[in-house]
Amino acid sequence: MSGNWKAICKTRDLLLNGYSQGVWLADIRGYSVKSGYDWLRLKETKLGWAKLIWNPMALPKHSFVNWLIMRNALNTKEKLHRLGIIPDDMCCICQAGSETVMHLFQQCHYFREILHLVCSWLQITEPQGNQIIWIGRRNWTLVHREVCLSVFMAVTYSIWQQRNSARLEGVILRPTALFVQCKNLMKIRLLNYLSRVKMSKDRDWITSLLS
Ligand SMILES: [Zn+2]
Repeated sequence: MSGNWKAICKTRDLLLNGYSQGVWLADIRGYSVKSGYDWLRLKETKLGWAKLIWNPMALPKHSFVNWLIMRNALNTKEKLHRLGIIPDDMCCICQAGSETVMHLFQQCHYFREILHLVCSWLQITEPQGNQIIWIGRRNWTLVHREVCLSVFMAVTYSIWQQRNSARLEGVILRPTALFVQCKNLMKIRLLNYLSRVKMSKDRDWITSLLS
């Protein structure tokens, strides 16, 4: 077996292993491919998105749906249409774009409107690109990151629920109503979480979210 072929097989095994463990492929540290495959250098941290998703503040059902989102494993209309199961791929919510994971959770006007309300409540700027990865890269306290991650995961879970409601029953909550629903749910979680928060800066911030 040639050196190049060995390098390809090694890279393939590394990527498959990383993918099966929920590791963000661009974030695998401690490996470099020899010969002509330097473009595949993966010397980044092994801290992947899975660690961000399975955080103690989030509800397990929210983490699970977000895990599916990160793995692009939701049965969106674009995927079902591509498999020949349904005749069109238009977004169930806005009917204005192909229903992909990226559309539903980054581009759809329904999501954008809720994102604006959520960021205003959390007192943060609007995330660029994937919210989980974006929050994971903020230089915030652990508490700040865990709370923001759990809120965004509650929102994306709820949007997926609304998408299913739109598809199966033809009804959907207004963005403001869905935001209030998520906020009230998270306030209950935050009340329990507050007793475990030590830093006054974090406590003040959470208290402001509860007001
Ligand atoms: Zn849409």
